Amino acid sequence: KSMDEQMLIIFGASGDLTKRKLIPALYDLYKGDFLPENFVVLGTSRSDLTDDDFRNRVVFNSEFLKDEAENSDATKAEFAKKLFYKDLGDGYDTDFTPLKERIHELNSKFKINHNFVFYFSLPPSIYETVAKNLAAVDLSVEGVGWKRLIVEKPFGYSLETAKELNIGLQKYFRESQIYRIDHYLGKETVQNLLVTRFSNTVFEPLWNRNYIRHVEITNAESVGVGNRGGYYDKSGALRDMFQNHLMQIVSIVAMEPPISDDPEEIRNEKVKALKSLRIMDDEETLFNHTIRGQYTSAIINGETVKGYREEEGVDPASTTETFAAIKFYIDNWRWKDVPFYVRTAKRMPTKVTEIVIHFKPSHHHIFKDQDFDTDNKLIIRIQPDEGILMKFGVKVPGQGFNVERANMDFYYSDLEEGNNIMEAYERLLLDAMQGDATLYARADEVEAAWAFVDPILKYWNESKSAIVHGYSAGVWGPLHADDLIEGRGFWRNPCKN
Ligand code: NAP
Repeated sequence: KSMDEQMLIIFGASGDLTKRKLIPALYDLYKGDFLPENFVVLGTSRSDLTDDDFRNRVVFNSEFLKDEAENSDATKAEFAKKLFYKDLGDGYDTDFTPLKERIHELNSKFKINHNFVFYFSLPPSIYETVAKNLAAVDLSVEGVGWKRLIVEKPFGYSLETAKELNIGLQKYFRESQIYRIDHYLGKETVQNLLVTRFSNTVFEPLWNRNYIRHVEITNAESVGVGNRGGYYDKSGALRDMFQNHLMQIVSIVAMEPPISDDPEEIRNEKVKALKSLRIMDDEETLFNHTIRGQYTSAIINGETVKGYREEEGVDPASTTETFAAIKFYIDNWRWKDVPFYVRTAKRMPTKVTEIVIHFKPSHHHIFKDQDFDTDNKLIIRIQPDEGILMKFGVKVPGQGFNVERANMDFYYSDLEEGNNIMEAYERLLLDAMQGDATLYARADEVEAAWAFVDPILKYWNESKSAIVHGYSAGVWGPLHADDLIEGRGFWRNPCKN
């Protein structure tokens, strides 16, 4: 796709995300020749930095800008010439005229044509203020050049706060200018879900209640909360992973075929799927279909691992979940009575994100020894070892008709291009710079996901029956979670293939 000349203005440029993700992604885009000729980055925040300070921080002295190439020093120096910095003085709620003057100066010098992408790499509590101050100096107005706004998660803390945040931004930018970044959508395998479903005739006819018994989605991390204890304790697994990343995956698994690959067509279908989620608002269903847990101390590979409540920054009496497993239904024609089981957790035996489509067993079992393990399963592995795995039954050679499981596996790493998969931030930045919002969350998507998650959080926070189950660090969560899904032992614990 072609790309207009443009300027990327990063708010919160002194922060961690800028250094760790944004600049490295831009550097890779630069090296891959994806950036337009006329392109500059202007970092801004309260910190008092010069252009050179900023360049040193995010390029020359950055441990995140790895480049083993022989001429990397020269490449970095060329790239750094595109980076500039302007401080905001004491705060973000200030007159942005000096910032605007710097933007206009760079705009003229580098012939940017007033096409600006504003990136809020800031605490969301100040998004509205910054949007207001941009609008006050006419920097949100389109006409001469376009204006886009990328905002980072979290998109609210509850349905109500998500709505407030959306309304706050929409006072100053039109929804079509706003790009809510969810780095999970930047992952190749998540996008490939769309292609797998809608470009193959062998999957889509089976992708419904007639052939699918249940859908299982696992997001497991082997690490604990690390040094993010203070942040995590106010958030928890449901807010941190489920409401955004996993709901996005659910929407792509469950959506109807869009009429084209137009961003709005795809996003309309995703919203429809999210709006069809059966909201759980009675205590009995919430008790039976939601499980939360917290990891407790354990010895892993000879080392003692702290329990969640002992982690730095975590309240010793915390009830914040590090494990969440939810069973739910989607009330529409396609998914009637097909249960979805989604779990996300920290301190699991391995790091993996995968979707498992469990097909129904053959309608009439003529071979006696066929069991659950040989039923057809399609596994979409999002990380690591990205790929698609198909499990099916084959005859064991020899006498009789014994059935055993066989695998038909595709790994991205087998493709020539598979080892050069774009980083999520790289892909998403490129899309926003080209004005493609397909992989960004729209306001109504975010709100539909919150409408589903809100009652669960409320139940967990308020009801006496909402127990926090403990699980030893390094196991697949509390035993109760095993009972949630089709009977004990039915989660696919992907240490094994
Ligand atoms: P950060 O380092 O804490 O903050 C970025 C910058 O925001 C700071 O350098 C600071 O710059 C400015 N800031 C303004 N008001 C602030 C306040 N009240 N407290 C702290 N800083 C304030 O955050 P980050 O890790 O770069 O992340 C930026 C945004 O991305 C956040 O919204 C975060 O939720 C989101 N996010 C981050 C990650 C990640 O991997 N880091 C992942 C997903 C989402 P000055 O003091 O110089 O003005």
